[in-house]
Amino acid sequence: MKEINATYFQQEVLNGGKVILDFYSTECPPCEALAPKFDAMAELYGHKIKFLKIFRQGNRELATELGVSSSPTLLFFENGKQILDTISGGIKKSEIVERLDQMLTTEEVAAIKANQKPIISEYDVAILGGGPAGLTAGIYLGQAKLKTVLIDPALPGGYMGITHQVSNYPGFTEPQPGYMLAHYMSEQAKHTGIDFKVAVDITSVDLLKKEIVIDQLETIRAKKIIIATGTTPNTMNAPGEREYKGKGISYCATCDAKYFVDKEVTVIGGGNSAVEEALFITKFARKVTIIHQFAKLTANQAAIEQLQANDKITVLYEHEPRGFEKRGNTMITTIENLKTKEIKELESDGVFVFIGFKSNVAVLGNHLPEMNDWGYIVVDEDMKTSIPDVFAIGDIISKKYRQITTAVADGTIAAITISKEL
Ligand SMILES: Cc1cc2nc3c(=O)[nH]c(=O)nc-3n(C[C@H](O)[C@H](O)[C@H](O)COP(=O)(O)OP(=O)(O)OC[C@H]3O[C@@H](n4cnc5c(N)ncnc54)[C@H](O)[C@@H]3O)c2cc1C
Repeated sequence: MKEINATYFQQEVLNGGKVILDFYSTECPPCEALAPKFDAMAELYGHKIKFLKIFRQGNRELATELGVSSSPTLLFFENGKQILDTISGGIKKSEIVERLDQMLTTEEVAAIKANQKPIISEYDVAILGGGPAGLTAGIYLGQAKLKTVLIDPALPGGYMGITHQVSNYPGFTEPQPGYMLAHYMSEQAKHTGIDFKVAVDITSVDLLKKEIVIDQLETIRAKKIIIATGTTPNTMNAPGEREYKGKGISYCATCDAKYFVDKEVTVIGGGNSAVEEALFITKFARKVTIIHQFAKLTANQAAIEQLQANDKITVLYEHEPRGFEKRGNTMITTIENLKTKEIKELESDGVFVFIGFKSNVAVLGNHLPEMNDWGYIVVDEDMKTSIPDVFAIGDIISKKYRQITTAVADGTIAAITISKEL
């Protein structure tokens, strides 16, 4: 694997045979999550395909020329021509493997797969999810000397890691950058000696058998499983949303707002995340227009007051997006006025979507614990689910308030309960 800059693009990429090129940025959690997967892939495929990395912020002109507008983005080349679909954002290992396999012959792919040997690992406790809930459980279980593994398809930290300022976590007089809290919490968990299997693909989960398969290769068996997989932002399913995801439409201001210096941005939503993220985006953008379906914002009063004091932000109430397209570098959001039914187009340089969340239960296999009407897991006061030896903690459980402090508390309770049982 090699790092290049724009000067070496012709030599290394266009004249480089088969190439995978990673445009990455700093302060970009999905880029950090991709890095270990990219390294692992380079080990396996590196003798057939050249693995290159390029720093997007330092090579902006080339990135724009190649249509890269989100970090990380993977591009594939063969004999000087770009091939296959680009992938960007939270990239799964399986998406990379699928494309790499297409670049090789069946025999070459078979030889690479033959080098991978299945692995079986046994643990006392497997924690699914490395947000504040999972990390806290890990700290307590590690200190209790239980053999514990923490599994996450991304890097540890969860939402905490991509929240720019956390002002309500006890112990700090000043607001803390979320990535620092995430860093210290995960270092603290690592210090207790638990294993981290992060930036992996979760191939399957069987909560009854207590078996988790990762990267189609390693089977993890545990006496107890803790589910701490949190939530995922909702998408609108409007025409163009999927097509322009990562190419004009973003779901992470921390990752992408810095590319909108002195530009115009559209934000969809009106709750806490939309308002807080819109305020953050104004540090870079010259103008932010919020599209909100109701007549009033649903964020908390403090956030609304900050928004009202910020003259860069305009809110279009009672409007909904109906579709997205790109004309040149301009994103066109088609919006409907819900009162008058008038349809109009809103131009901007980029769109950010923050319209609520759904629980991450889809990944938990066929045997799911009892859930409430909204798909959140029901637990008792010890964080036990309806499945024996399966616990759930954090944002994924049925509860009223979803905060770092409440997630941390849930993790503590589950871990202490387990420590007393094992
Ligand atoms: C924009 C934003 C700002 C916020 N600001 C604050 C704030 O200032 N203060 C505050 O207290 N709270 C804040 N919150 C809420 C807080 O971040 C959450 O309540 C908290 O992170 C929940 O922790 P968690 O561990 O349950 O889930 P998450 O933080 O969502 O972590 C879940 C983890 O599970 C992983 N995962 C997903 N699927 C799987 C799978 N199949 N297998 C294994 N792992 C999986 C994810 O990659 C992630 O790492 C904010 C939330 C958002 C979205």
